Amino acid sequence: MKIISDPRLLSLGVVHGTTLRSAGNMRLAQNTHALFEQLGIPEENILRFKQIHSDKLVCVSSLAQMRQIQNGPLPQADGWIIRGGGMGAAILTADCVPLIVWDEKAEVIGLSHCGWRGVAAKLPQKTAQAVLQNGGKGRLSAWAGPHIQSCCFEVQQDVADQFPGCVLHKNGKMYVDLNQEITRQLTAAGLKKEDIRLPYYCTCGDKEKFFSYRRDHTKDALLTFVYRP
Ligand SMILES: [Zn+2]
Repeated sequence: MKIISDPRLLSLGVVHGTTLRSAGNMRLAQNTHALFEQLGIPEENILRFKQIHSDKLVCVSSLAQMRQIQNGPLPQADGWIIRGGGMGAAILTADCVPLIVWDEKAEVIGLSHCGWRGVAAKLPQKTAQAVLQNGGKGRLSAWAGPHIQSCCFEVQQDVADQFPGCVLHKNGKMYVDLNQEITRQLTAAGLKKEDIRLPYYCTCGDKEKFFSYRRDHTKDALLTFVYRP
């Protein structure tokens, strides 16, 4: 199964990445089971939540705390901060930005679901700040999985107004460059530009590889996950 991931984070021993369309709709449990089984990841140690396009982050520091969360109602949030081994988290996207931020040894890892509302609410910046506030040490790095890029993210004035300096004008239409705003927020949180990698995969523009809500208006989704053995 092909997965898009970041070699820097792989080299720190963190299993992670974003699935492709060929792995199927990750809203279906059978597809996530197949994925985690193939990767040898215990799925019960992968945190999930109900994504609500907010800037809310939840920090988990131990397996005991994870079980406590899992025994309660499904948390409503858009980001996890994971501290400790044997744990991971996953989010669903189909155009929104799956963002991973980690500290020098990937002992503290943030995973957030950044739709344009989340980006406007500064979720990328808050994810990086939360990694530091929860014990992250040294230099932070960041990576974003496939999401909608400025080639396809046409917006109306109300959305454009929320991204000053990140709006491109083309043939009388407006497009938002989320990568530019995410870079701005992450550098504001202290990251160096060279430690931020936002590969240019466009979910909306590449139908063969990705699901896209904007293009297809279906609920089919890609999964982005992190797991620290
Ligand atoms: Zn595109």
